[in-house]
Amino acid sequence: MEKYLSQLNEAQLAPTLQKDGPMIVIAGAGSGKTRVLTYRIAYLMSQGVDAFNILSLTFTNKAAREMKARIATIVGESEAKNLWMGTFHSVFAKILRFEADKLGYPSNFTIYDTQDSDRLIASIIKEMNLDKEIYKTKQIRSRISSYKNSLITVKAYFQNPELMEADKMARRPRLGEIYKNYVDRCFKAGVMDFDDLLLKTNELLTRFPEVLAKYQDKFRYILVDEYQDTNHSQYLIVRALSDRFQNICVVGDDAQSIYAFRGANINNILNFQKDYEDVKLFRLEQNYRSTKNIVNAANSIIDKNQTKLDKIVWTANDEGAKIKVNRSLTDGDEGRFVASSIFENKMQNQLPNSDFAVLYRTNAQSRSIEDALRKRDIPYRIYGGLSFYQRKEIKDVLSYLRLIINPADEEALKRVINYPTRGIGQTTMDRLVVAANGYGKTIFEVLQNIDKVDVNINSGARNKLRDFTTLIESFQVMNQTANAFDLAEHVTKASGLIRELNKDSTPEGVARMENIEELLNGIKDFVEGQKEIADATASLAEFLEDVALATDLDADKGDADHVALMTIHLAKGLEFPYVYIVGLEEDLFPSAMSMGTRSELEEERRLFYVALTRAEKQAYLTYALSRYRWGKLIDSDPSRFIEEIDEQYLDIITPIEERRFNPMLDADIFGDPEPNKVRFKKPVQPTFKKKGAPVSKVVKKELPTSKNLKPVSQTKGNTNLFDGKLAVGNMVEHLRFGKGEVLKIEGAGGDTKAEIKFNNGGVKKLLLRFAKLEVI
Ligand code: ATP
Ligand code: MG
Repeated sequence: MEKYLSQLNEAQLAPTLQKDGPMIVIAGAGSGKTRVLTYRIAYLMSQGVDAFNILSLTFTNKAAREMKARIATIVGESEAKNLWMGTFHSVFAKILRFEADKLGYPSNFTIYDTQDSDRLIASIIKEMNLDKEIYKTKQIRSRISSYKNSLITVKAYFQNPELMEADKMARRPRLGEIYKNYVDRCFKAGVMDFDDLLLKTNELLTRFPEVLAKYQDKFRYILVDEYQDTNHSQYLIVRALSDRFQNICVVGDDAQSIYAFRGANINNILNFQKDYEDVKLFRLEQNYRSTKNIVNAANSIIDKNQTKLDKIVWTANDEGAKIKVNRSLTDGDEGRFVASSIFENKMQNQLPNSDFAVLYRTNAQSRSIEDALRKRDIPYRIYGGLSFYQRKEIKDVLSYLRLIINPADEEALKRVINYPTRGIGQTTMDRLVVAANGYGKTIFEVLQNIDKVDVNINSGARNKLRDFTTLIESFQVMNQTANAFDLAEHVTKASGLIRELNKDSTPEGVARMENIEELLNGIKDFVEGQKEIADATASLAEFLEDVALATDLDADKGDADHVALMTIHLAKGLEFPYVYIVGLEEDLFPSAMSMGTRSELEEERRLFYVALTRAEKQAYLTYALSRYRWGKLIDSDPSRFIEEIDEQYLDIITPIEERRFNPMLDADIFGDPEPNKVRFKKPVQPTFKKKGAPVSKVVKKELPTSKNLKPVSQTKGNTNLFDGKLAVGNMVEHLRFGKGEVLKIEGAGGDTKAEIKFNNGGVKKLLLRFAKLEVI
């Protein structure tokens, strides 16, 4: 044990060796909070505390596994095995199985996911003959969920006139009844939903004093990581369990509280000292994770928040490279920049893919990053969500498109024939399959002959099938003339998919709409890219093939070495040598939906602080000047968060003027993997700041100079050559295109252009005003 304790600094040792009593460690990112929890558990065990008596609650199960593995190296595998470790949900699901009978549940109760819950709620609404446009399933579900997380049971609901009045005002006077029916039906079916796992644990601990006593006695030492993000239900559980022995150790960072939207309560950490007597407070100040530049930049950001505990974070690590800020013209360019930057870093420093993470605010942003990584053959993995093309709503759209190209595609047909619902039931489907097999035809062929085939389907159902067939056939006709984007957009509307998704205004529903929007953007990008390729043909089919290959490739990669892609929310507690934070644009990050109040904006800023502090060696901040939304380029402004970082820590690597005024370079400037392929890009109009929009300091900070575009190793020479130093026959070097020879010079002054034949085979005309060339 001694040997291991020497791996902690003095400030970390103090809470580690503080064996008994309530204690809180409040410290900034990367200061070793999780390490203290880990070593503290090992220390407790070395002091004779039985592993069975220790409960450790973590933010993810992965974190728990890693912690346990580390402890096992110190105290041995067989002892570590007996520790209780995991997320609140996983630990208390386990306890509820032991105690289920007390609450009247079978110990093999089922846990419903949100889809199951939705289906049940929808059928209850139907049985109650309620208008489903007013009683929207998903809204009802999230309402019920927030009641449960605030411990408002059905009984409590009906005793609270204010709540009932609020639902009445929202034109949903029968919400309470739905809630009651839902709870009764779950109970009858032996089912708990996600929220029940916490709610029922609370019920168990309050209704059964002997059960509470048993677990209080069992869990004599309780440790909680990421305490700043516990919700009310979780808080009550921890309080109840620790009440007897008061050996409770929580660690957290108020600056990293990012789950308020899900009910996390920052007051849990702020009030901890009032909740227990004689609380020991520890602070850690030394960051071991990141370079000085990153630590200082993160400090300068979080300083802007008014609501915070004062903390010092410093590091003895190297100064490190400055944080690189990159502007791109479009989100597609941003993806290509990230991919080529990862590629260069990997090559220059011989690094594994797992050294890299790309973090974004919303899941939909992964699409352009995925596309670019795939083109570069860089393996990646999306965490906390399906790969973009595997998401349900995306697969639904793709299934329609597949059916247009190949109506024999049975899986695609089965997926969409009754989605959105058209009243084509399972029995009808079963009979169609039997008929198709009998005739030796595809289902679609049977559908096309539905009036002639011998199948036991009534005329009402036949009509519905006919409508569906006509719909798909109309898409097929359109496919003969329309481009893939126009067709796909039409399909999402005419099929009713958009209407279906529009009904759902919950965050999940909005996210699904955003994903479809992203898919359409991807198709738009694809179509634009094909415009100048002479032999580009049936673009929808080619697009689908691209996508199909993409998913095959992804599936093959398994768990091997890969770049991590995830939302910032998921990245909490993790660390990576290289971190790319993308989409740093106003209205995206900070999100348009979170700028209404100071506290919402401060939560966004904490989220940015979390993102930046994941980086060990190097952080990149990227944003696009315009982003495709619904197939249109929408201008955006750089995020205020970039501006808020003290500029001494930043290195702006793409001069904005060059990107805006030189469409000629757009296709290749970020190291397009296919520099010779002609790509069509819309000429981009200079976009000036909208009124009142924050004028980015970034723009003014550094004028375009050669240095900004040079890798550190190449610093020689002046490069801005439009003052006329360049002559035909000169050999020049361009950062992206490499070496080449000047063939021709034309124009004068600011319009001087040079035609250059690059050694990679391409001939380019470059405006010398912007081109970063060096005579060699
Ligand atoms: P976060 O707030 O992001 O959750 P944290 O405070 O939990 O961060 P840790 O993840 O425990 O910080 O530690 C950050 C990094 O620093 C880890 O790689 C850890 O191994 C390392 N580290 C922590 N303390 C020390 C130490 N005393 N000596 C060497 N490395 C350390
Ligand atoms: Mg941690």
